[in-house]
Amino acid sequence: MAEDPTRTKAPKARAIPPAPRSARQLDQIVLSTLKAGLPYSAYEITRMAAQQGSPLSAMQAYRVLVRLIHRGQVMRIETLNAYALAPEQGSGFVVCRRCRTARTIVLPDREPDMRALCGTVGFSLSTMVVEASGLCAPCLGTLK
Ligand SMILES: [Zn+2]
Repeated sequence: MAEDPTRTKAPKARAIPPAPRSARQLDQIVLSTLKAGLPYSAYEITRMAAQQGSPLSAMQAYRVLVRLIHRGQVMRIETLNAYALAPEQGSGFVVCRRCRTARTIVLPDREPDMRALCGTVGFSLSTMVVEASGLCAPCLGTLK
């Protein structure tokens, strides 16, 4: 079908694709959202990144999280299905199952015991993550 040359077409609005960002830039976007210290879901990370003017797709966020976990910079908190900056060596997370807050706690050095225990079954320990779930003090207070 031939177009009518007398009709004018409105110019199509074109979305300008964002400039490609390097893996390092994407890592920094995710790390900056986690610097608040709280655990966030991948969805919350993408929402916060957009609010900061650096939108990420969910797929980009997951790829970055996998990379940061592999590097030991980020940890997945299974209880919350969320991600947080990795705690210092020799610390772990306590997660409140009622209000879903997470705190870092310093642990006594259990790695030698765990390494020995793993050795009894021929397993070589490389990292050890402690995540404990229960009730935080404010939530316990509401139950009394
Ligand atoms: Zn709580």
